[in-house]
Amino acid sequence: MKFTESERIQEQANQYILGGVNSPSRSYKAVGGGAPVVMERGDGAYFYDVDGNKYIDYLAAYGPIIAGHAHPHITEAIKKAAETGILYGTPTKHEVTFAKMLQEAIPSLEKVRFVNSGTEAVMTTIRVARAYTNRDKIIKFAGCYHGHSDLVLVAAGSGPSQLGTPDSAGVPKSVAQEVITVPFNDIESFKEAVAHFSDQIAAVLVEPIVGNFGIVEPAPGFLEAVNDIAHSNGSLVIYDEVITAFRFCYGGAQDMLGVTPDLTAFGKIIGGGLPIGAYGGRQDIMEQVAPLGKAYQAGTMAGNPLSMQAGIALLEVIHEAGTYDYLDKLGRQLEDGINDLIEKYNIPATINRLKGAMTLYFTTEKVTTYEQAENTDGELFARFFKLMLNEGINLAPSKYEAWFITIRHTEEDIKQTLIAVENSFKQLSLVK
Ligand code: PMP
Repeated sequence: MKFTESERIQEQANQYILGGVNSPSRSYKAVGGGAPVVMERGDGAYFYDVDGNKYIDYLAAYGPIIAGHAHPHITEAIKKAAETGILYGTPTKHEVTFAKMLQEAIPSLEKVRFVNSGTEAVMTTIRVARAYTNRDKIIKFAGCYHGHSDLVLVAAGSGPSQLGTPDSAGVPKSVAQEVITVPFNDIESFKEAVAHFSDQIAAVLVEPIVGNFGIVEPAPGFLEAVNDIAHSNGSLVIYDEVITAFRFCYGGAQDMLGVTPDLTAFGKIIGGGLPIGAYGGRQDIMEQVAPLGKAYQAGTMAGNPLSMQAGIALLEVIHEAGTYDYLDKLGRQLEDGINDLIEKYNIPATINRLKGAMTLYFTTEKVTTYEQAENTDGELFARFFKLMLNEGINLAPSKYEAWFITIRHTEEDIKQTLIAVENSFKQLSLVK
């Protein structure tokens, strides 16, 4: 495959755009460098780049594109919305329709607010939880990503009862001091942190199913215990469902797992591919927010007609019977096929999968913790990533990012993908 036009454009990009990309995860830094492929067109499960190469896409824009690229129903909704004005700054009926659809799918959303990104949504849930509890600290779990606001760019201290340290330059130490980070799926560490900081803890923030060090499910009873311990401490529970909502069922992971948070943050899928975030939850907690309460949150673009109508169209598409069974069927076909190839070529790799989301980790042990995900073989992944790209498969350039299957992928696409995996594994096994 030739990537000359991509390389030419990226050279220009480097002149004008910091680092050549508008989000660090798009660079190929983690896979040994090189110019990231510049895509020109998306159609269903496929991408076409500026050199004319075609790819089967498993990035799905890091999650939102569950209905595939340029889905006709969503495209039509966006076109129609654009024709009647793209931004009002006044209420619209679409906000109400969409809020009602979300509430029907996710009953814990007694009240909801729309914002513009997952980052904003999470950031605001924390503010609301602090306002409601009159406490400042939060507990979060290592390896879970919650956007790029100061408070959640904080890494673990050296023990479960230690305060955090900034994970990014520019995050004040004083902010990091408000965050305690404990290992996911480790209820003892969580208990210890709650006992230690007790009446200072406003909320615990968690991805109910982890999407950010690969797909990692909660251990049986983990989320229930988090709820019980947090609530008996007077702390709130915030779910970050930016990745998980509508990913595994028509609703939140909370609905699939039968656990209920006090507040939830959303983004990604619910915008049908347009910028969006949302947060919501218990009415008495949400009443902290202006104009009813004293916790301030606002947004010029919040609830804009385009994002609302794209979101409504997306929900209409995925509400059809069979969506998640179909994603599961294709996911199983991909998982089983890759597992056979792992065995055939003796590749040190293992898969976590839930429905249409899957992670292939280059390690032989089952991954259930952030530490294990971190310890997987990044060099082997980097080689695999480049081989797959040359086979016409677009993955995220990160060793534990998920592969997302869309409703536009077909069994034939999975078969093609397995041929690409086989060709790549052959190469890897030759030079192991
Ligand atoms: N929470 C989670 C779980 C995420 O995965 C992300 C983005 N990957 C965010 C929050 C931030 O969302 P956004 O990029 O829309 O700000």
